[in-house]
Amino acid sequence: MRISVIGTGYVGLVTGVCLATKGHQVICIDKQLKIVKKINRMEAPIYEPGLEELLRNVITKGTLVATTDLKSAVMNTDISIISVGTPFRDGKIDLRYIESAAQEIGNVLKEKNSYHVICVKSTVIPTTTDTLVKSILEDASGKKAGEFGLAMNPEFLREGKAVQDFMYPDRIVIGAYDKESFESMKNVYKDFFDAPILKVNLRTAEMIKYTANALLATLISYSNEVAVICEKVGKIDVKEVLEGVTLDKRFNPRVNNQLIYPGMVSYLKAGCGFGGSCFPKDVQALLAFSKELGYFPSMIQATLAINYAQPYRLIERLEEILDTLENTKIAVLGLSFKPETDDIRESPSLVIIKELLAKKAKVIGVDPIAIENTKKKFPQNELLHYSTDYKHALQEADAAILVTAWSDFTKISPQEVKKLMKIPILIDGRRVFDKSSFEAAGVQYIGVGLAEYLQ
Ligand code: NAD
Repeated sequence: MRISVIGTGYVGLVTGVCLATKGHQVICIDKQLKIVKKINRMEAPIYEPGLEELLRNVITKGTLVATTDLKSAVMNTDISIISVGTPFRDGKIDLRYIESAAQEIGNVLKEKNSYHVICVKSTVIPTTTDTLVKSILEDASGKKAGEFGLAMNPEFLREGKAVQDFMYPDRIVIGAYDKESFESMKNVYKDFFDAPILKVNLRTAEMIKYTANALLATLISYSNEVAVICEKVGKIDVKEVLEGVTLDKRFNPRVNNQLIYPGMVSYLKAGCGFGGSCFPKDVQALLAFSKELGYFPSMIQATLAINYAQPYRLIERLEEILDTLENTKIAVLGLSFKPETDDIRESPSLVIIKELLAKKAKVIGVDPIAIENTKKKFPQNELLHYSTDYKHALQEADAAILVTAWSDFTKISPQEVKKLMKIPILIDGRRVFDKSSFEAAGVQYIGVGLAEYLQ
């Protein structure tokens, strides 16, 4: 099929490249010329494992091209997939990019005679597609929905595993305005054999995405709430508690007498909170939208409140040990919101760095690929330095906080920490290290959800 993908950020570029790899003819459109030029030079503008290699293949084959010219792209394709950003701004979801993409497509549809399907892939609040997007398209094109197709196809990819998730989806949700829109979208995914297709209406598709993200975020916040209680009691390790809970066969079934550790169990872990471009903004948008409808969703509110507090708790634990943070030097291990991505949006490390700087600590931010993005957030601060070399950072630091579980960091041995640091103090914000072996090596180990004292 001939497909245009509008907005080539994390979702749009992965969508475009993967659909082109599956044999579709894809045109990627972005407003930013520098992104378009990079794509056409076969350079991925974002870091995502495996993406650049696939990009090279599809550009070389001629099945993908990038442009800023939306009009010619829509004219020369049968489906437009909208994957522009939907940030949370001024207390609610900001749909301005969706509106302008719909307006631009509608203007083209006015001049286009053949049938065209518009599919919203961006995460949008329920009713956006069947009210806002539909009416903008109808007004701009002078046509009625039905004369053009309308669909909503939420994206569930995870950054860091985006290519794999897109190529091997566990489900494909297609919200469709009518049968023809559904059949067109089904054709887009005709080579994704194993994935079940769930056919729903437009607003159900939108709600599925929010419900999925809010549930996963709630599992994380629930684990973090239990972690706080464990710390307050003392001598209880939240890691053991959650392991004891998730060994229940309803969480963790056995196949051939082997535990299979379903992905969901990985969200029942205490840490320094969720970040990224999706969970924080989507959960906030769902909360704001529910309030607009006259319903206060207290569980969703609590999920956000717990998450907001979590990074500060690490700083409190550090202050208990160092007394004051003023003039100390702290290595923050990991800047991206999770490993295998350069995305720092809403990363807990940003909150931690900001708080450390506010308390006049010197900070060394360590990350293999997210330093450049972080520099844009903290322009010219003499207390903040960066390094890609954790060894150098540990040598310099009075204490280290693990925030992002990059494999380079999780492999750090207790002996290495003991050797490199003057006074070895390690805060494990992801609970990836083994407390007893670090303590045996003479490292002061502090883990989320684990405290020795009774308060
Ligand atoms: P992004 O900010 O990385 O990319 C958006 C791109 O759209 C930018 O490059 C921007 O220049 C471009 N753009 C904006 N308006 C445009 C227009 N009118 N025409 C052409 N280009 C335009 O965003 P993202 O992270 O890819 O997210 C996109 C959507 O997908 C959001 O709704 C997000 O919630 C959702 N989503 C994201 C992820 C994720 O992991 N990042 C996962 C699932 C769903």
